[in-house]
Amino acid sequence: MSEPVDKPVGSALTKHFVATALIVRNDRILLVHHRKIGLWLPPGGHVEAHEDPVEAMHREVREETGLDVTIVPAADPPVSTDENVRVLPPPHHVQVERIAEGPHDHVDLVYLCEALPGIEKGNAESLGLRWFTLEDLRSPEIVQNVRYYAQKAIEEVAAYHSSQRAKASANSQRGSP
Ligand SMILES: [Zn+2]
Repeated sequence: MSEPVDKPVGSALTKHFVATALIVRNDRILLVHHRKIGLWLPPGGHVEAHEDPVEAMHREVREETGLDVTIVPAADPPVSTDENVRVLPPPHHVQVERIAEGPHDHVDLVYLCEALPGIEKGNAESLGLRWFTLEDLRSPEIVQNVRYYAQKAIEEVAAYHSSQRAKASANSQRGSP
């Protein structure tokens, strides 16, 4: 695994900003079998000119899966200090993907999310939708980058819930006489 790069890497290609959702529910992650690309991928797509990346992520998720999601809060979430400054939840990570068409680069803001109640439903872009367990993700059908972050997403959502439970039980003990 290479280190994150914070200096220019020499790509003068056009950059498109895209937003992606790692959607977890019951220790599974939802992937879309993409018709055009032929791969199992987390849902996402281009950020339109009138959107911020969080809005784009929610729209793409609704279009591709029919679901609504919430972003798993960061341990130390940023806060807004000015009326005219909105602070967005930070992405889980940002990755740059080389796209053969063009070619161009996708600067992909990837959000860690949980599915709200509802039944998933595909659209014309997808051949199918499926919830993958950690075990299922070992399938050779899944590319390495998707496998790595999908497994991490399942593990991090489980860790988030156990930390929430620990906090709740610490609070209830504090509250008892
Ligand atoms: Zn693009």
